[in-house]
Amino acid sequence: MANCLYCQEKAGWFKAVCPQCQAMLNAIQTLGQGFSFRDMLDVLMATHAPTEKIEKFLETDIKGQGSIRDLITARMTNELARTVGQATDTDAHKVKKIREEEKKRPKIPLKPGQPDPMRK
Ligand SMILES: [Zn+2]
Repeated sequence: MANCLYCQEKAGWFKAVCPQCQAMLNAIQTLGQGFSFRDMLDVLMATHAPTEKIEKFLETDIKGQGSIRDLITARMTNELARTVGQATDTDAHKVKKIREEEKKRPKIPLKPGQPDPMRK
């Protein structure tokens, strides 16, 4: 038995993705262009997958180039930038890098009322 690429649960013989994650992949493909994160969550929840599984599905980084969540974030960032007339070329890989750097950033203890110097 192989484990599902997304949720790591048993996928079935000769299958890389379990039926529930496959249903989520199919659901995303029905969205077409210009969907919001909310739209995506709606179709994912319509597959009746548990929230926990949806989370895993969105966070899985199969090709090492960013998860589905990163892909969506990159797409929305580019769309937003275009709307305000500033084209960017953010992709899932860059979002992943930013996300990881954010995690590594040292946390400086702040005095009460002191503004965070890392925040602009
Ligand atoms: Zn799965």
